[in-house]
Amino acid sequence: MKIAVVGTGYVGLVTGTCFAEVGIDVTCIDIDQRKIDNLKQGILPIYEPGLEEMVTRNVAAGRLHFSTSLAESIRDADVAFIAVGTPPGEDGSADLKYVLAVARGIGENMNSYGVIVTKSTVPVGTAAKVRKEIEDALAKRGADIDFDVASNPEFLKEGAAIDDFLKPDRIVVGVASERAEEVMRRLYKPFLLNGHPIIFMDIPSAEMTKYAANSMLATKISFMNDIANLCEIMGADVNKVRLGIGSDARIGNKFIYPGIGYGGSCFPKDVKALIKTAAENGYQMQVLKAVESVNENQKSVLFSKVQQHFGSDLAGKHIAVWGLSFKPKTDDMREAPSLVIIDKLLDAGCTVTAYDPVAMKEAQHSLGERITYAKDQLSALIDADALLVVTEWPEFRSPNFEVMGRLLKQRVVFDGRNIYDADEMEKAGFAYHCIGIRTKH
Ligand code: NAD
Repeated sequence: MKIAVVGTGYVGLVTGTCFAEVGIDVTCIDIDQRKIDNLKQGILPIYEPGLEEMVTRNVAAGRLHFSTSLAESIRDADVAFIAVGTPPGEDGSADLKYVLAVARGIGENMNSYGVIVTKSTVPVGTAAKVRKEIEDALAKRGADIDFDVASNPEFLKEGAAIDDFLKPDRIVVGVASERAEEVMRRLYKPFLLNGHPIIFMDIPSAEMTKYAANSMLATKISFMNDIANLCEIMGADVNKVRLGIGSDARIGNKFIYPGIGYGGSCFPKDVKALIKTAAENGYQMQVLKAVESVNENQKSVLFSKVQQHFGSDLAGKHIAVWGLSFKPKTDDMREAPSLVIIDKLLDAGCTVTAYDPVAMKEAQHSLGERITYAKDQLSALIDADALLVVTEWPEFRSPNFEVMGRLLKQRVVFDGRNIYDADEMEKAGFAYHCIGIRTKH
């Protein structure tokens, strides 16, 4: 089988590389010439654990190719994945211009039957628009070529993308013909051998499944943050409450950690887009509106704690920040809570020194020289009035508190991810603030 994957970002590059890994001939296409030139030299545009080695290996094996030419790559592809971005438009709806541009390009260049699959997260009805774009492009050429569209939303998590792709909880595929179902089943067969399920459904349901999944996950986060804030007011400990509720199998213990709000390129935009889709169709997503509003508020919680500790005049305070990416094991800075927190600190007259194991280069695109970037996690602490833990990278979990105490000007830690133990911090002489637990300080 031969496939083309259009869009070589977090999703497209992982998708293409993992299909190559199981022996399929893959061409990854992007309009960004620099990205493709770099990929050809083994330089990846993103950080994703294990990906670089897998790309190198599959390129060397001759199964993974990179190109800027959709025309050449699409001609003899059995399946073409559209994996370009679907950023939020001004009104919150998913902007489909990149997806539809690719669909047009496919229609302009395909020359035999193929299945055109949307892997990007797209609202219900998009596959129909993709079909129309391709039909119009074919008609313009006077070409009569049969094709199918399908929807195959992606559920990978940045930071664990390869495992998620190779060992998926499930693969969801929306199809409208038996022929497309057969092609997609054949394509995914290597992933099904170990019992990973593939779920076929109609196309609108597949499109909706992705939004429902991300919205449910965002809801879990906002729900727990709401509970955490109330725990703090009432003198309950959210860590204990989490354990207490998580052991109920109907609730489960995953994804119920309180923190400083969700970020990233998916949850914020997908929640917004689903609210918008509903509104356009005369329905109000009341739960999701609350999820969004709790999340906006949560991004300011750590800053409010800084103000409560030091007083509202923060001018001249020097703050160390550990973690910039929106979650560990990725360099993705899109909608990262760190950006909101750092903006607030700078606006209040603080200076900031930050350290992140992989996201500092990416962070410079948005934060520039407004903050200082430390060479390692300990040097970020030198002469700081406080440390803010913003992303729960594994290397931040067991630091040497004695050394930390010596480097910091004041022993004050604001832990936005609850990775430390309040009693231990108190014993080490720290004023410790975290989420959903009233601490002594
Ligand atoms: P990304 O921004 O990292 O990558 C998109 C790529 O598409 C870019 O490299 C861009 O240059 C390229 N592109 C744009 N227009 C093009 C065109 N006409 N032809 C060829 N290439 C083009 O985006 P991403 O994070 O990989 O997300 C892609 C889609 O997958 C989005 O819809 C997103 O919601 C969804 N998704 C993302 C994740 C995630 O964790 N990032 C997970 C699941 C689903």
